[in-house]
Amino acid sequence: MKYIRIKNSSDRIPVGKIVCVGRNYAEHAKELGNEIPAGPVIFLKPSSSVIYSDEEIVYPSFSIEMHHEVELVLLIGKKVKNAGLTEAGEAIAGYGVGLDMTLRDIQDELKKKGHPWTIAKCFDTSAVLSDFILKNDYSLTLNEEISLSINDENRQREKLKLMLFPPVKLVQYVSSYMTLEEGDLIFTGTPKGVGKVAKGDKLFARVENVAELNCKVI
Ligand code: ZN
Repeated sequence: MKYIRIKNSSDRIPVGKIVCVGRNYAEHAKELGNEIPAGPVIFLKPSSSVIYSDEEIVYPSFSIEMHHEVELVLLIGKKVKNAGLTEAGEAIAGYGVGLDMTLRDIQDELKKKGHPWTIAKCFDTSAVLSDFILKNDYSLTLNEEISLSINDENRQREKLKLMLFPPVKLVQYVSSYMTLEEGDLIFTGTPKGVGKVAKGDKLFARVENVAELNCKVI
């Protein structure tokens, strides 16, 4: 069982389902040759894929092209289904930063075949989580910058407000297709600048004022 780590709180909330959003920044959709979607593209990761800051990302033997995707992560604090915008906003309990590690070579193969992305997205150590800050302790403005560096060199840097679908809209959208519950997480999509990682790389991810994480690829 994996638990969500919360700043200034001893609450132990088990990680529920992890809903990930694809193509939520226009420039990133373009860099992978995808169209800008009319609605969010969503997929799931299992809780078994979770590791935390200061742990190691294990490069899977079945891929030769693992990519970093840095993302703002929403923590859901209560059960919602078919939420309106107000209810969707109230369902967000806090924020963190995460890495949606992706096997791009496998994903490209699966896309060609029209298959689900599961093998490219759900491997062990593919969801790296920071500690979360509660909404009561910090109010997100979307003026914050999200960034990722590898071995101290910046690779991704963008303002959160460039998201095509902001947090509240994502919660509303996802809850129209599946019930969201306490402990569920939503990875909100990555900005442009995704690319390969190599064994030995040290990754540092941050959402300004919200959270940061460090991890090494082995
Ligand atoms: Zn992603």
